[in-house]
Amino acid sequence: MDDSNFFETVKQQVCTCSLDLRIAPDVEAILKMPMQELHVSVPVRMDDGTIRVFLGYRVQYNNSRGPTKGGIRFHPDVQIDNVRALAALMTWKCALYRLPLGGAKGGVACNVKELSRNELERLSRSYIKEIAYFIGPDRDIPAPDVGTNEQVMAWMLDEYAKMTGTTVFSMITGKPVSVGGSAVREDATARGGWYAVKEAAEDYGIDLKNATVAIQGFGNVGMNAALLAGPLCGCRVIAVSDSRGGVLNRDGLDIGRLREHKKRTGSLVGSDLGSGITTSELLELDADILIPAALEHAITVRNAGNVRARLVAEFANGPTTDKAESHLAMRGIPILPDILCNAGGVVVSYFEMVQNRTMDRWDEKMVHTRLETAMTTTYRMVAAFAREHALTLRRAAYSSAVGHVVEAMQARGWV
Ligand code: NAD
Repeated sequence: MDDSNFFETVKQQVCTCSLDLRIAPDVEAILKMPMQELHVSVPVRMDDGTIRVFLGYRVQYNNSRGPTKGGIRFHPDVQIDNVRALAALMTWKCALYRLPLGGAKGGVACNVKELSRNELERLSRSYIKEIAYFIGPDRDIPAPDVGTNEQVMAWMLDEYAKMTGTTVFSMITGKPVSVGGSAVREDATARGGWYAVKEAAEDYGIDLKNATVAIQGFGNVGMNAALLAGPLCGCRVIAVSDSRGGVLNRDGLDIGRLREHKKRTGSLVGSDLGSGITTSELLELDADILIPAALEHAITVRNAGNVRARLVAEFANGPTTDKAESHLAMRGIPILPDILCNAGGVVVSYFEMVQNRTMDRWDEKMVHTRLETAMTTTYRMVAAFAREHALTLRRAAYSSAVGHVVEAMQARGWV
């Protein structure tokens, strides 16, 4: 199998689940393909007056458990196969957490670093206009992912409202609080990830107080993971990186100042807060916890042999290939898998939908408490399932999730 094709990895995981759950081949075939997908051209008037056409996608993978849900990615590497893979992961993630939602994903192949703010706004509005008839609060609900944020969600909400003549907040999540967003959504993925890491650390005998942490990625997930590492778990972040490079300081990094540096200069490179390292060197550092929080397939057969962490916590989606995972397993390095570890974002997005639909507002404390309960109870359920059947956490999480999807498909009479 190709070590670098993300959708192939995801399909392979379905095959493994089929073996564990004795799923019939015809049912497995349904689980290995998206239900519906839309390919769109996204025309955008650029600041110089010319029109550029970007390629966009929206994939609804499986809606047996409810309307589909998943982020929108703006990144040069967006293409249909990785959108399919990410949509499948959303399906398993929502099912694992027993949310009444299916899985979807969308994206546009573009480089946000090359767009002005006005061009980014026009791209966001143009994309949502193209996919508007395909989505909706009872059909498919987008959210932020790599390259998009709450401002992009607000523009999309506004464009959709103009088209439909109604402001339906629950059509999109990850919005600013002023337009129906939820408290805590901004750092929900990172916060939820740490709640899961706390549970796993206990199981694997890792004392989090002063444990060292290396984090790849310094965006919504990576930066918030770095900011919360100390306050939530007492850990010391010794290294972080973004797409241009990283920084290492064994005494612990000042994350607040690094954030300022990145805001000022656009990258982590060149700060005087530690020594410069490459983003691949970061993955091989001697740190207790390694958090890939950037893109898929960061840990492959090429570098898995050099990973020295005691626990890999997948805050990103799909950061470890199948073959790399086998290497890590042979070397006794456990993985806290993506659909279990980074579900905080979709869990709080679900809370946002509940608040929108009931015209309610939950305070920070309530969201924190409910998020922590969701993360810890799901972790414990997966860990118990893994122990009972002698499976890895990934295999336990995926089998449990796929089982819930099959159950819904059976209940609806699809299979
Ligand atoms: P983001 O766009 O806010 O940040 C991505 C970060 O990754 C940036 O700092 C970028 O510079 C960095 N990066 C890109 N390529 C890199 C490389 N090769 N090495 C090091 N850094 C690199 O995106 P995000 O929302 O933080 O998402 C990160 C990951 O988390 C993705 O896998 C995403 O699917 C996943 N995720 C995000 C959410 C969410 O709520 N945003 C929820 C669940 C999972």
